[in-house]
Amino acid sequence: MVRKFFVGGNWKCNGTIEEVKRIVAFLNEAEVPPEDVVEVVVSPPFVFLPLVKSLLRSDFQVAAQNCWVRKGGAFTGEISAEMLVNLGIPWVILGHSERRLLLNESNEFVGDKVAYALSRGLKVIACVGETLEQRESGSTMAVVAAQTQSIADKVLNWDNIVLAYEPVWAIGTGKVATPAQAQEVHSELRKWLHDNAGVEVASSTRIIYGGSVNGTNCRELAKQLDIDGFLVGGASLKIFVIYLIKQPE
Ligand code: PGA
Repeated sequence: MVRKFFVGGNWKCNGTIEEVKRIVAFLNEAEVPPEDVVEVVVSPPFVFLPLVKSLLRSDFQVAAQNCWVRKGGAFTGEISAEMLVNLGIPWVILGHSERRLLLNESNEFVGDKVAYALSRGLKVIACVGETLEQRESGSTMAVVAAQTQSIADKVLNWDNIVLAYEPVWAIGTGKVATPAQAQEVHSELRKWLHDNAGVEVASSTRIIYGGSVNGTNCRELAKQLDIDGFLVGGASLKIFVIYLIKQPE
């Protein structure tokens, strides 16, 4: 099964109108392989979604960075999946570790959000990953398995999910997982999917890596068998896409 390489840019809570326009202008000029070879998705803050969507080339897509867990209504400050669909936004990032840790989003809550977003027709970049303390205590796999289980509890069809393995200790720290460290967790995750969600899900689900990916370290990471792409934070605010494509050998 050939899994299409996936490159996501997570802009987090950054940017001004001018900066957003500048990054989009760069992306629009970038020479990348065609969309049947690589899928490029950029995720600006909510307020810039319509602007980015209107300016971005048609072979790249946009993602929101979050959405509410159920139908919209009296939830001040939230953005519903229905609104994203209404704006024509195809993707949403859910379960990012910054939200899990800073906003106390539990595994169960993330699982509910993933299921609801999918039910509305959104595609989901679902993030999992361990903290440094968890890695050092040897519980990496138990942590990411529990996070993935909470999604599998609510979701049967994985066609519209990309699983992002993002070790917390590697996010925004400049301390990237080595290709071997990342491959080890990715292959364990694929095995977990095989055992718990089925052979087909395991072979077709893209498992992407995030955590201090940049134009230099992406090449070795991309060579790993079970790394099907990246979720890029800091480097995606700079000039990024051309470096992040799996290079033909
Ligand atoms: P980083 O962020 O590339 O800045 O480490 C990745 C992410 O949080 O998605």
